Parts: sequence; C-alpha cells; structure tokens
Amino acid sequence: MSPSPTAHRDEEVHEPLTWEPSAVFLRYAIWAIWLSVGLVCLAMYFFVPSMKEQAFWPTPMAFVGLMGWYQLRRGKMHSTVTVLAVGMWICVAAMVVVGGGISAPVQYIFPLIIFMLGWLASTRTALVIVAMTVLFTVGMVILEALDALPQAPTSPSALMALVQICVFLMSAVLVLSLVKAYRGRLVELNASNTAYLRRTEDLERTQTELQQAQAVAHMGSWTYDLNNDALHPSDETRRILGIEREGALSKSEYFGHVHPDDREYLHKSLNGAIGQKTSFDIEHRMLAGSGSKWVRQRAEARTREDGAVTHILGITQDINDRKLADLSLQESEKKFATAFQSSPVAASIAILADGRFVEANDKYERDFGWNRSELVGRTTQEVGLWPTNHMRQRWVEALEARGNIVDYETLWVHRNGTQRSVSISGEVIDYDGKQCILAYITDITERKAAEEQIQKLAFFDSLTNLPNRRLLQNRLELALASAQRHKRYGGLLFIDLDNFKALNDTHGHSKGDLLLQQVAQRLMACVREGDTVSRLGGDEFVIMLDNLNEDPMVAANQAEMVAEKIRAALDQTYQIADFQFHTSGSIGITLFGENNESIEEPIKRADTAMYQAKGAGRNAIRFFDPDMQAAVTALVELEAELRNAVSQHQFTLVYQPQVNSAGHVTGAEALVRWQHPERGQIAPIEFIRLAEESDLIFPLGAWILETACSQLAQWAGNPALAHLSLAVNVSASQFQQIDFVTSVLDTVHRTGANPQRLKLELTESMLIDNVASITAKMSSLKSHGVTFSLDDFGTGYSSLSYLKQLPLDELKIDRSFVRDALIDPNDAAIARMVTVLAETLGLRVLAEGVETDAQRALLLGQGCRNFQGYYFSRPVPIAQFEEYALSQP
Ligand code: C2E
Ligand code: CA
Ligand code: CA
Repeated sequence: MSPSPTAHRDEEVHEPLTWEPSAVFLRYAIWAIWLSVGLVCLAMYFFVPSMKEQAFWPTPMAFVGLMGWYQLRRGKMHSTVTVLAVGMWICVAAMVVVGGGISAPVQYIFPLIIFMLGWLASTRTALVIVAMTVLFTVGMVILEALDALPQAPTSPSALMALVQICVFLMSAVLVLSLVKAYRGRLVELNASNTAYLRRTEDLERTQTELQQAQAVAHMGSWTYDLNNDALHPSDETRRILGIEREGALSKSEYFGHVHPDDREYLHKSLNGAIGQKTSFDIEHRMLAGSGSKWVRQRAEARTREDGAVTHILGITQDINDRKLADLSLQESEKKFATAFQSSPVAASIAILADGRFVEANDKYERDFGWNRSELVGRTTQEVGLWPTNHMRQRWVEALEARGNIVDYETLWVHRNGTQRSVSISGEVIDYDGKQCILAYITDITERKAAEEQIQKLAFFDSLTNLPNRRLLQNRLELALASAQRHKRYGGLLFIDLDNFKALNDTHGHSKGDLLLQQVAQRLMACVREGDTVSRLGGDEFVIMLDNLNEDPMVAANQAEMVAEKIRAALDQTYQIADFQFHTSGSIGITLFGENNESIEEPIKRADTAMYQAKGAGRNAIRFFDPDMQAAVTALVELEAELRNAVSQHQFTLVYQPQVNSAGHVTGAEALVRWQHPERGQIAPIEFIRLAEESDLIFPLGAWILETACSQLAQWAGNPALAHLSLAVNVSASQFQQIDFVTSVLDTVHRTGANPQRLKLELTESMLIDNVASITAKMSSLKSHGVTFSLDDFGTGYSSLSYLKQLPLDELKIDRSFVRDALIDPNDAAIARMVTVLAETLGLRVLAEGVETDAQRALLLGQGCRNFQGYYFSRPVPIAQFEEYALSQP
C-alpha cells in the first residue's frame, strides 16, 4: 500500500546483476565435461591398444559431471560450480600424478579451471585453487626429482598427439559452451533489465496515479514504522495535514498536528491497534492553519512472521466539508426542533429564501395573530408580512452576508393590520436541503415606546420640549471639538428672565409655565437650525451657537447680533391666559473654541456674564471678556452711529486723479469719507466692513453711486472736464443684490450721467462664486456702456480661465506690488506679468498707489500706461480735484 521507496524495496523480487553463472551455463559446462571425458576414453580405447585399461582413467571426471548435475537439479548454483571446478581440479591432479608429472599434457587444464572458478564461483575459491596448484606443482617437481612418481607408460608419439588434440578439442568445446552460455546470459540479463525498467516505469506510473487518486479522493496514506518511530506520510497526507517538512516524522511530531482535544482519542486508537493487532476507523480533528480540520483515519497493524507488530498502515481522508455540513445539519435540526417545540419561548417562523413559510409556532400566533395553518405554504407577500419585495430581499441579503442577524429592529404587521415594532434575530439554516431563514420575532412595541419616553425624559425638558442640561452638555462637547478642529468660534448665550419670580408669585406656577413655553418659542424663532436652545431649569435658558466666524471679533459680533435679536424678542408683551405680561431677559455671552476646555467652563463664563447683564440694569447683553465687551460695545456704538450717519448725510466723496503716461488726467476714483461730528474724518477701512455686515452698505452704496453719477453729469456740462471718467468702488454684498443692475441704471438715468464715463471697481474675491450670474450682470451693465475695473489685482485668486470669461475693461495692479516693485524683483515681475496679461486679454492696466517718480518710470518701462497715487495727488475734495485736472491738461 505504501508508495514510499524504502518500504517498497523490501518487497522487490528481482535478481541482482552479478556474474553468477546461470543454470543454462552450468548445464552446458556439464555437457562439455561428459563429452570431453567420453571423447578421451573412446579415443584411447579404440586407437591405443596398449593403453586400453588406461582409457578409463578420465572416468572420475564423468563422476564430477554427475555430481554437478545433481547439484544443479537441486537448484544450488554455487555448489554446482564449486563441485565442477574442484572435482575437475582433483581429477586433473590425479591424471598428472599417474600420467607423467609436470610433463603430463593435462597440466594445461589447471589454468582453465582456475580461470573458470574465478569467473564463476568466487575470487576466493580461485585463489585457494591457485595456491593448491602451486603447492601441487612444487610437490610434483620434488617428487620428480626424487624419482618417486610412477613411470608414465610410454606411448607412441602419434598417440600423444591424439591425446593433445583431444585436450584441445575438450578445451575448445569448453570455451564454445562458455561463449554460448555467456551469450545466453547476456540475453537473459538484457531481458531482466528491460523487465526491470518496465517494472520501474510501471511502478512510477502507479505511484503517480496513486498520488492523483489520493488527491482526488482527498485521501492520503501513511506507514508508521514502530521500530524506528518513523511515520512516512504520502504527499496527499502531507497536504491534508499541512505538513511542509519533507521526510519521515516521529510519532510525537505527528501528534503535534493533531487537535489537542483529539490527541488522547487518536492515541488510544493507535495503541489499541498495536496492542490487539487490529485496525481502527475514527474521525477526529487535525490542526490546519489557525483552525482545525476534520479527517477520517483508517489504519491497520501489520505483523512480522513471529507475530510482532512492525508497521501500521494508515489512510487519512479529508472529510472537513462533509463533517461541517453534517454538524451544521445536526445543529439546524436541533434549532428547528427547539424553535417549534410545543411551549416556545419566542415567536418563531421559518421562511425559505423565496419567502414561503415552512413553520410558525403558537407563540407567533399569540403575538401576531397568524395561525400556523394560515401561513405554512404561503409566501410572506401573500400574507402581507413584508409589504415590499425589496424589504424582504434586503433582509435576506443581510442574513446571508452575516450568516445571522441579532436584534434587527423593524416594523411588523399584526394580523389585525396594526404595525408593531419588533426585534428580529435570525439565521440561515438548512431545512430539507434548502436554505431557510429561522427568525425569532420579539414584539418590542411597548418597550420602544417606553424607551422613547425615557429618552425624552432624559434629554428633553418636559415643559418646553427643549433640550435639557444633559443634552446641552452632550452637544457642547461635540461643538467644542468641532470648533477646535475647524478653527472657528462658537458662542454660548446664557439667558435669564428678568421678573419671572414676580409672575410666579402673583399668578401661580401654572401661569409661570405658560410664560416659559412662550419664551421657548420666541428663543427658537431667533436662531438658525443648527443652534441649540436649551432650558437648564427655572427661567434659565442657554443657547449654543455653532460655527461662528474664525475671527474672534467677527464671531463676537455675530453672537452679539443674535443676542440683540433675542433681547428684543423677549422684550415684548406676552399674552398669558387672560392677561398680558411684560418681561425681558438678561443675556451673558461667551465664545468657545479657542482653547481646550471642559464643557463646564463656557457655561460658567456665560453665567457670570449674565449676572453682569443683570447688574447693568437687566434687559441687557454682556460679554464675559472685558476687551471683547469693549470692542463689541464700540462696534455696536459705531454701527448705531453709522446708521445715523447715512440718514444725516455725514459722508462725502473725495476724488483721486487717474493719470496717463503723458501726465494727463483721464478721470478719478471716488473714495468715501465719514465726517463724524465728534471724531472728525473716519477712513473707510474702519467702517466699510461694518457697513457691509450690517446691511448699511446698501443705503451708503446707493448714496455714493448717486453722488458720483451726479458729479459725472455735472462734468458733462463742462467741456474741459467732460472727458473725465469716474471709478466707483462696489462692495461684494452690493453687487450681489438682485436688483443691482436696475438700481445702477436707475441712478445713471436719474442723474443724467453718461454711463460710458462710469467705471465700477470690483474686487477679485467677490467674483469667484457663480461666474455665470456675475458675467450676466456685468454684461447687462456693459451693454449700457458702463465699464469695469478689477481692483486690487494680484491679491486674490484670479485664474486665467475666469478672467477671460469676465467682461472687464481694466486691471488695477494692487498697491502692494507697486510699493515693492523697486525693492523686490518678484513684485516687479508680478507687475510686469499683469501688464503682459492685460495686453493679451485686451485690457487696460492701471497701477494704483504710485508714490514716487521712480515707481512711475519703472511701471512705464514695463508697459503700464495709467497711474493713480499720492505721487500725482492724494484723494481730495471735488473742488481741489477739478483744479488739479484743469492744471494738468
Ligand atoms: P481701494 O479701492 O484700493 O482704494 C484705494 C485706496 O488706496 C484709498 O484708500 C486711497 O486713499 C489709497 N491710496 C491711493 N493712492 C495711494 C498711494 O499712493 N499710497 C497709499 N499708501 N495709498 C494710496 P481709502 O480711501 O482709505 O480706501 C480704502 C478702501 O476702502 C478702498 O480701497 C476701498 O476698498 C474701500 N472704499 C473706499 N471708498 C469706498 C466706496 O466708496 N465704496 C466702497 N464700497 N468701498 C470704498
Ligand atoms: Ca478702489
Ligand atoms: Ca485698490
């Protein structure tokens, strides 16, 4: 059975290739002896009358031949050869003694005999015979010298010749028969060689076939040699057991591959087979990779003649797949049985993958109204369980992907049509060879409702339905992390009602509750969707503003704006049942997100700020940070003043000339100034952003445009100034107004300005979003003659592609490049590039902020033809500008 080469060699039955004589050869040799003896005897007897009695001397040789024949018949080749050779030697020696000593002609036969013995019997025998021959010859020489030998019968020389001839003949026959025998032997050897080769081939083929068969059958073999504790596994056995090492294994090594829990079992089986000289057939697990693998082991003890066990021959079969299937089937059956037993714990159904019911238990009937007989054989759709195919499909897929489902919550239809919340645990098991979903369905409708209630109680204030402190803390924790991650601020507003206690005391708690509910509504109305309005308890509310600006001042301003909105909203009359009530709120603000802090800290800060607001006389807003408070207060004041300023016409325009390469004034840029009654002139840097944020930019911008256009109309009447253009700065928010185009055109028409003299300055940053609508607005104005200049060019993110799309007329090289062009070659290069770029796009270039002649000359050298800056003139009031323009023709 075992294919292992060592084991095989023992059973091999073929002759070793040696020079041993074959039976044929020996038969020929015996024939040759008899023939020679016969010939010699006959020759002497008939041809030598005087030696008739001596003719029988060679007869002992015939006896030797007979002995050899006898040995050959017994099959003893070696004895045959020895008998023949030694017998012949003795005969020849006898003939020599009686036939004339060392001069006897038969002497010549000795070498032949020795040669034959050496060749056929063994070297040792040949050497013994050589020694005997030497001794014998020496003995002969001595005996002859002593004249002690019998007298050789004198015989005629013809006779001697005859005897010699006979001897030669005899030798020739011997040689011939040897040659013949040798040829026969060669043929025999060839034949046995071919047979051997064929057998080897056969063996190899069988071995390969065996290996293949083993692989196909997942069955390998092994032999265990008890004497040297060596287990030889076949290739397939190796594969099954995952043994990589070549060669034999010791028993303990082999057991290392057996699953620890099964080692004892295999050990007992093996010992049993050895002890009782029997076989075993068991199934157990082997270790395979990180897991285990089921195998079947059949083995049998092999004994020696004396009955001792020498080997165990075994077969290892990989039965993992079958075994696992068996086990899962057993498991499935067990599960199926428990699920549908008579007093079930859980409502269970079993459904085939196509949705057909195969089982449903009593509990299912009790819980969901369907009785078993109504379900079995019908599909889920037919009984309207899973209303959509899609939902069922999803469930099946989920089950198949994960193998089982634990606590999957969904809605389930009761037989009476009501929807129940259920939790389903399920798994795919084998049922009658088909995949079947076994599902345990628990009605959790009540539990869910309770959970929701608990959730609400835990996280929401039952009076106002607003998030409670707990939920606020949760959200604040997230907001803190998010603010830090995104480097943006968040704001926390602590709100306390100003005379809540009075209401409670005079009208009772129920009225107080009504007020709180209305306050909650008003607060909710003041914030964006992502913000959290929460009630901490009593009359304390906290609002968390998410995602404010990254700049603390701007963020503070944003928070302040919301707080102001809230303050105003709270400071309104409330209708409580049948009476009206007035109250207000004190609001404390803090920002969070700057440093890593606990959730309690911002709440504490906002609380403190709220007390300051209370201290400031209630119905007030206070920041926790005094600097921030100051800045915000200043801003708030400024904003209030700005609002005032627009209505009170505290603004003026100043004009800064724009000059061409020849020094001629081609126009001006209008720049706004705020003439503050107390603070004097305020630069636009200080208020434009505030105006933009508070929407004051709209009336302000309208006023600026109106004034500029009126100025243009005025110039039109003066031939010396009629050619001048006027550049007006437009803020992003202004430009984004839906009616921007019409309001500009209105202004132009109303004032009578020539639109071709009006140049609107836009900045890059405002042009990035929604290029299409921007282009449309620009084009529409352009069709009326209005021109466009791109302000502060080079500081934004302009990409060539959109520059090409926009209907611009002019690029203004930003002041910063002009300032540094003389010092920094990079800035010079940028200025140069802008010029080249503008040329390519067919645009005018204007350099702003030119302060020296050197700058002007440099820019001129780079191809820039238009300039604006302190070198020519600062922004000046209209009279001064006109004077300048007229002085520079
Ligand atoms: P801008 O549009 O870049 O205006 C040019 C600013 O550079 C002006 O400052 C001007 O006084 C200043 N300037 C002109 N030549 C030189 C120079 O040679 N050296 C230096 N260092 N500065 C020079 P201004 O008037 O303070 O305006 C600042 C910004 O305020 C303007 O920058 C513009 O963005 C905005 N702004 C001014 N007026 C208006 C306006 O009427 N409407 C709008 N929306 N924004 C305006
Ligand atoms: Ca400008
Ligand atoms: Ca500018």
